[in-house]
Amino acid sequence: MQLDSKIPDGPLSEKWDRHRFELKLVNPANKTKSKIIVVGTGLAGASASATLAELGYEVMTFCIQDSPRRAHSIAAQGGINAAKNYQNDGDSIWRLFYDTIKGGDFRSREANVYRLAQISNNIIDQCVAQGVPFAREYGGQLANRSFGGAQVSRTFYARGQTGQQLLLGAYGSLSRQIAAGKVRLFTRREMLDLVVIDGKARGIIARNLVSGELEKHAADAVVLASGGYGNAFYLSTNAMGSNISAAFASYRKGASFANPCFVQIHPTCIPVHGTYQSKLTLMSESLRNDGRVWVPRSPEDRRPPDQIPETERDYYLEEKYPRFGNLVPRDVASRRAKVQCDMGKGVGGTRLAVYLDLKDAIEKDGRDVIARKYGNLFEMYEKITAQDPYETPMMIYPAVHYTMGGLWVDYNLMSTIPGLFVLGEANFSDHGANRLGASALMQGLADGYFIIPYSIGDYLAKSSHDTAREDHSAFNESSLQVETRIKKLLSIGGKRTVDDFHRELGHILWENCGMTRKEKDLKKAKKLIADLRAEFWENVLVGGTGKGFNQSLEKAGRVADFLQFGELMVMDALERKESCGCHFNEDFQTDEHEALRDDENFCHVSAWEYRGEGSKPKFHKEPLEFENVELTQRSYK
Ligand SMILES: Cc1cc2nc3c(=O)[nH]c(=O)nc-3n(C[C@H](O)[C@H](O)[C@H](O)COP(=O)(O)OP(=O)(O)OC[C@H]3O[C@@H](n4cnc5c(N)ncnc54)[C@H](O)[C@@H]3O)c2cc1C
Repeated sequence: MQLDSKIPDGPLSEKWDRHRFELKLVNPANKTKSKIIVVGTGLAGASASATLAELGYEVMTFCIQDSPRRAHSIAAQGGINAAKNYQNDGDSIWRLFYDTIKGGDFRSREANVYRLAQISNNIIDQCVAQGVPFAREYGGQLANRSFGGAQVSRTFYARGQTGQQLLLGAYGSLSRQIAAGKVRLFTRREMLDLVVIDGKARGIIARNLVSGELEKHAADAVVLASGGYGNAFYLSTNAMGSNISAAFASYRKGASFANPCFVQIHPTCIPVHGTYQSKLTLMSESLRNDGRVWVPRSPEDRRPPDQIPETERDYYLEEKYPRFGNLVPRDVASRRAKVQCDMGKGVGGTRLAVYLDLKDAIEKDGRDVIARKYGNLFEMYEKITAQDPYETPMMIYPAVHYTMGGLWVDYNLMSTIPGLFVLGEANFSDHGANRLGASALMQGLADGYFIIPYSIGDYLAKSSHDTAREDHSAFNESSLQVETRIKKLLSIGGKRTVDDFHRELGHILWENCGMTRKEKDLKKAKKLIADLRAEFWENVLVGGTGKGFNQSLEKAGRVADFLQFGELMVMDALERKESCGCHFNEDFQTDEHEALRDDENFCHVSAWEYRGEGSKPKFHKEPLEFENVELTQRSYK
C-alpha cells in the first residue's frame, strides 16, 4: 500500500489555489450522468450532498436517523473558528494555521491545515448567506469569543447551539436539492459494507433499519461522512448512535486507518454519576472564556465551595499557564484536572470533579449578559445535576469527546481505495494529536462545502468506468457476507447483553488507553479486549429477528466493530513510543509533566492496513514534513 498524500508543490499559501486550477473539471452535462453516494448527514455529509447536487451530480444520501437533522453535529455547542479578524486582535490566516498546527502537537500536515485556515472565512460567509443566526455585536458585526489554545477571539457562535444552527443551514440547502430531485434521501439506513469493484469504491450495502431489508446501492464514487468513534469508550459526549461501522467496513475493504489512538478527552463535562449511566454531557469549552477552574488547595478541605475563601482555592490553570490561563488546550486542561483529582483535591461525591466557576463573571457582567451567552448550557446543567450554576460553581471532569484518528485520506480527501472519499470527523486529516476547540465544525464544513466539490470532480473526470450496477457479483458477495454476520449475531443466544460488553470495553479503554497510557497497561488492555471479543461472539444475547426494527441487533453490529477497533486503537498507542497531544504515555514526559514528543522517530502519521481476520494489520508511516513552522516543545505558560 502506498501512502501518497498528494500535497501540491509551491508556497504554502498558494498550494490550494494552484491545485484547484490543476484539478480536472467535469463538464455540466456529464455531471448529471455521475452518481455519488454520501453516507452521513451531519455537517460534513449534509454540506457535501447539497453542494454536489447543486453542481449537477446525482446524489444519494444515507443516514441512520429518521431525519438528517438528528445527526450528531446538532449537539455541537460552542462555536466555529474562522480567521476573519473582526476583533482586530491580531488574528490572521497564518495565526489560525499556526495555532492549529501547534495545538495538534505537530502531528498534522502543514498543507491541509493551511488550507483549512484559508477556507474558514468562506464558511462563515456561506453560513451567513444561508441565514445561520450567529451572535452579533451591538453594531451588527458578527460576535466572537475565545476557545482553548488561542489568544485571539475567532470563534463564531449561536449561543451554545452552534452545531444545531449550522446543521439547520446545511439541511435547508440539502432540502432544496431533495425538492429539486437532485438528492435522493435514504433515512433509517445503516451502511454495513462498502462494495469495491476492480479496486474502486462502487457502492454500499445498507440495512433498512425499519424493514430489516438489505439494500444494494451502486454509484461512481462514495463519500463517507459517518462521524467519529468516541463511543468505543461507551461513555462519551457523542450521540448514542455514533459508531465506527461504516469506516471500519471500509477499513476491512482496504481503506487505511490513520492514528486510531488519537482520541480527544474534553476537560469540561458533567462527571460520571453511576454505573448504569449510558451518556455523558459536555459543558462547552466556551464557558472557559468566563469561567474559572479551581479546586481546594488542601485535599482535606471538604467545605462547600461558597465557604472556601479565595486564598484557599487553587486556580491551578491560571497559576501554571499564566499566558493562556483557563483557555489552555483540551489535552492540557484534561490532564491537569486528572492530576488534581489524583492528588486527592477532587470535589463532589466521587471526588472526580473540579469546579468551573462563573461567579466573578456574573458579578462583573451581570446575570443577563451571562445568560445570553450560555443560558442553554446552564439550563442543561441544572436539569442534569439539580444544581443552579448561577448560584454555585459547576462540577466538571474530563470525558471522551472527539476522535482525531480516522480513515487515512490524501490532500483530495480520498482514502487508499480510489473513489472512496472521507469527510468530517470520519477522516484523520487536520487535527494531528489534539483538536483545538471550534475547529471540528470548521473542518467538516470546509470538507463538504469547499474541498470535495473540486476533488471528486477530478477523480470522476479522470476515471473511465461503466456505470456500476447492483447486479454485479461484488454486490451479491458483500450482501451475503452482511447477511451471514447478522444471522450469526442472532444465533448466538448467549447470556450477556450487548450493552454489558460495550460497557466493559469502554472501561478497559478508559482505564488503559485514556487520558494517560503506559506500555504495561496497553499490553494488558490488548489481551483483555481480545478475550472480551472472543467471549462476545460466544456469549452475546441479541433478541428478536433480522426482519424488522431491532435495536439490539443494530447495537450488536456496532459493538462487534468497536471491539475489533479497540484492539487497533491499543496497538497504535503501543507503537507510538512518545507522548504527543492527547496521546500521553507516562514514560515520555518533560520534567514539568508535559507531553514529550520524539520528532526524530515519530514525526509521522501511523496508518494501518487490514490483513484479514486474525492477522495483525500492517503498519505504514506517512512522514510529516514541516517547511514553514519550527517544531518546538508546546508551551502555554
Ligand atoms: C457535545 C458536543 C459538542 C461539540 N461542540 C463543538 C463545537 O462547539 N465546535 C466544534 O467545532 N465541534 C464541536 N463538536 C464536535 C463536532 O460536533 C463533530 O466533530 C462534528 O459535528 C462531526 O460532524 P460529522 O458531519 O463529521 O459527523 P456527525 O455529525 O457525527 O454525522 C454522522 C452522520 O453519519 C451517519 N452515519 C453514521 N454511521 C452510519 C452508517 N453506518 N450508515 C449510514 N449513516 C451513518 C449518521 O446518521 C450521521 O448522519 C462537539 C461534539 C460534541 C459531542
